[in-house]
Amino acid sequence: MTVVERVALEESATAKVPPGVLVEGPVVDAKFRDSYISFALMITGSIAALVWVVTQGIGWVEVSVFAGMFALTTVGIGFMHRYFVHRSFRCGPVMRAICAGIATMAVQGSILKWVANHRRHHLHSDKPGDVHSPYYDGFGNRIESFAKGMGHAQGGWVWDLATTDAEVYAKDILADPIAMFFTRTRFYWYALSALIIPAGIGYAAGGLHTMIGCVLLSGLFRSYVMTTATSLVNSVCHSDGRWGYRRYELDDGTTNELVTTILTFGEGLHNNHHRFPRDAYLSHAWYEIDINGLIILGLGKLGLVHDIFIHPDNERKRS
Ligand SMILES: [Zn+2]
Ligand SMILES: [Zn+2]
Repeated sequence: MTVVERVALEESATAKVPPGVLVEGPVVDAKFRDSYISFALMITGSIAALVWVVTQGIGWVEVSVFAGMFALTTVGIGFMHRYFVHRSFRCGPVMRAICAGIATMAVQGSILKWVANHRRHHLHSDKPGDVHSPYYDGFGNRIESFAKGMGHAQGGWVWDLATTDAEVYAKDILADPIAMFFTRTRFYWYALSALIIPAGIGYAAGGLHTMIGCVLLSGLFRSYVMTTATSLVNSVCHSDGRWGYRRYELDDGTTNELVTTILTFGEGLHNNHHRFPRDAYLSHAWYEIDINGLIILGLGKLGLVHDIFIHPDNERKRS
């Protein structure tokens, strides 16, 4: 049974709750547990980081580790999105494990949860059933105020008493031992990204004082800032043209927004993406800089990934 058929069946069975959505049970409990732990650490760490910066100051080590880890995990979310969700290229098990590792290091939940949520988002984009639309909450109720909608899309959706059923939306991930290994061991990768790597570099470069600065600023605060930047794709890039521009008139509120595009290495070209969801390269004009797409094309040239997908209609437009 395809996702669409299964979704249609569930739609008739549960009139109110959007299809493929769980509103209670162990998966919802686990989602809250994960979110509480991750956000408690990131927010506490971010406050401590700001206090540390004001009282202790920071140097080039903290700033460099911040920039390096921000870039690494932003590429990771590019792989999470374009490889694990949309299958815009193929690769062998070693490359898949590397993609899975740096995707999980972004501290945005497991591959299983991210993929299931994002596929539900595309199926219901800005309609009842969308996970993080500015226009509908997790239960499919219309959000009246634009400001409230932006808050929901930017982060409020994480606290919805509902989550996506991976059995409906991510069966391929459940069947992939590499993706499931990283899903099960996600907290180790969160720790590596937010604590262990920043601590190691900080201690090696400047001792205990630099180590503390690196963990707080380049680990915990950076994870929070990077997650906030990714979330701009859900809010700003679904603002129905209030910010950014719409290259394609689609049946949703998607826009391309260039500041978000820079911060997310190309993911802000979101109107292009919803028009051609499986494309590995999202730029349709010289001023649309898609760094994640260029990295995938570069990996293709090196032979590390293959079968890079570009929709034929899009290719004609670009040539
Ligand atoms: Zn979207
Ligand atoms: Zn997508």
